[in-house]
Amino acid sequence: MQNTNTESVNANVDSAEVAKFEALASRWWDRNSEFKPLHEINPLRANYIDSRSPVAGRALLDVGCGGGILTESMAQRGAIATGIDMGEAPLAVGRLHALESELEVNYQQSTAESFAEQHAESFDIVTCLEMLEHVPDPGSVIQACAAMTKPGGDIYFSTINRNPKAYAFAILGAEYLLKMLPKGTHEYSKFIRPSELGNWIRGAGLELVDITGMTYNPITGNYKLNPNDVSVNYLIHTRKPA
Ligand code: SAH
Repeated sequence: MQNTNTESVNANVDSAEVAKFEALASRWWDRNSEFKPLHEINPLRANYIDSRSPVAGRALLDVGCGGGILTESMAQRGAIATGIDMGEAPLAVGRLHALESELEVNYQQSTAESFAEQHAESFDIVTCLEMLEHVPDPGSVIQACAAMTKPGGDIYFSTINRNPKAYAFAILGAEYLLKMLPKGTHEYSKFIRPSELGNWIRGAGLELVDITGMTYNPITGNYKLNPNDVSVNYLIHTRKPA
């Protein structure tokens, strides 16, 4: 059967993964919802990015932006922000929320790969956070992010490490014990070791600038950046050579 929606054919998209986020989209900006962890880590990651690559006045692309938690915080800091995602409902929520926040964000439904076809070397800063562990081919997303970045520009990735501790925290702890996330949010086999991410980063011609962990203390319920512990959540700063 002919499918005229080229985006859905052979695209690097796991539609079951996107559907999970579509189903939750109405609660994206509810700080006590399934998205609570993203709200709580957001100031940490926004500060990390903005302190390393001041975003004010720069063209920034947020890949897999969802309802725009990071995208808006970048726009708030003065970035000329674009967000792309394959989920229609998260984007609709993002557009409405940006209106309420009186922020300008250009939200588009697209994969990184197809956006890259029209936007070669167009952005000073590209962010792709908590998304790679939901796609069939993370290396392809990383290549596309590299292609869309101007020479000398910065790209940030974050994901979840794959080891017994990450399984305990991100799946048993977050989904089963603390019930912070719905069961099935994450699939252990799709978690990504820093060495694997490093290989894709080098394969895309990017330089690794820094890596830091984001650790969660289940007693205090606080997150913090910790450069010495990348065992669960971690954030990577890369650069496209000038
Ligand atoms: N980056 C955001 C949202 C993370 S949730 C943040 O950290 O706040 C993961 C997002 O990736 C969801 O919105 C989901 O719809 C999106 N996504 C999953 N696969 C995708 C793909 N192949 N292309 C674009 N977006 C995708």
